[in-house]
Amino acid sequence: MTHEIIPQANPGAGYRELQTEIDAAIARALASGWYILGAEGRAFEAEYAAWLGTNRAVGCANGTDALALVLRGLGVGAGKSVVTVSHTAVATVAAIEMAGATPILVDIEPDTYTMDPAELAAVLANPPVGLPPFGAILPVHLYGQAADLDAILTLGAQYGIPVIEDCAQAHGATLHGRKLGSLGVASCFSLYPTKNLGALGDGGVLATNDDTLADNIAAIRQYGWRTHYLSDLIGVNSRLDELQAAILRVKLAHLDTHNARRREIAASYDAALSGTAIQPPARRLGAEHVFHQYVLRVENRAETQAALRELGVATGIHYPVPVHRQVAYAGRIALGPSGCVRTEAAAGQVMSLPMYPQLTDAQVETISAELRRVFVR
Ligand SMILES: *Cc1c(COP(=O)(O)O)cnc(C)c1O
Repeated sequence: MTHEIIPQANPGAGYRELQTEIDAAIARALASGWYILGAEGRAFEAEYAAWLGTNRAVGCANGTDALALVLRGLGVGAGKSVVTVSHTAVATVAAIEMAGATPILVDIEPDTYTMDPAELAAVLANPPVGLPPFGAILPVHLYGQAADLDAILTLGAQYGIPVIEDCAQAHGATLHGRKLGSLGVASCFSLYPTKNLGALGDGGVLATNDDTLADNIAAIRQYGWRTHYLSDLIGVNSRLDELQAAILRVKLAHLDTHNARRREIAASYDAALSGTAIQPPARRLGAEHVFHQYVLRVENRAETQAALRELGVATGIHYPVPVHRQVAYAGRIALGPSGCVRTEAAAGQVMSLPMYPQLTDAQVETISAELRRVFVR
């Protein structure tokens, strides 16, 4: 190994790139004397909604809460079920149960790793016996690429079930030129430090074109208050603080540039893999990928990861165990007709390369060279 290990994610590099601007924003927020739900938060919400192209955005404490808040706002709780996938961050499923609803997990398309609309259609047409009525469909735009929303929105409309987009990995991605997160009834974004738009702590934001829904959720996130100390709705505490909002405003202004850099890095990795037995990630027709993760499938994953590590390239696994196989969920969650076989196959093979906008050209070249060393036989 002739260079320092290149990490798979690097939120510290994201801070250092914008340190002067971020430090100034932090100083401004600290000097304001107002630390929760104030001017910075309102400005971030307005700027995020304008950037996304929705009427409204509502900040909250994290991406899991954003999902649970949207479900609560739509009245999807006990006695309702929500269709999502098992190949996702466990947070997607945790949020459904936080809201009191029952998850049902369907399989993915093997190439895009997102919800298989055929499985969704089968479940809607033939719900498992005993499953509560459907309250929402929750596709995940995994790794930064659109789920098949054309088909999923059509099914949602056909059955009268709202579609909520889990955009935690897809800030800025598009489908047919329209931003993900502006196509469903509502959408939820994590602002965890490593996400495409990341705070320097926890944060989340949800978006919708429905003003009433946004107003209700804004109340629910703070004890159900519309007016201080008066709870009109049953609420929770899930607020975005002013420091994070100020930091996020700085980072939002750089998000499009950062996503373009992620795509450039992805193109370099694609080129490095050409002529090897390893396929670059599939791109959905009509969709623009923002590469939250650049994910390969390798049959001998442990050996490949070890070989790359030896050469100074760290890799990750998103995710090693499907939600329905995890101890907290195993044996008690309804599954789609395939039993999530494609999810289980993916979980055994997926491997994520280093991916963040601050990777230097030299680092990308190094990673590309080491990929060829490992994959060209
Ligand atoms: C990160 C993530 C979440 C949860 O976000 P937190 O901010 O960590 O609560 C939900 N869904 C997906 C797909 C994610 O990647």
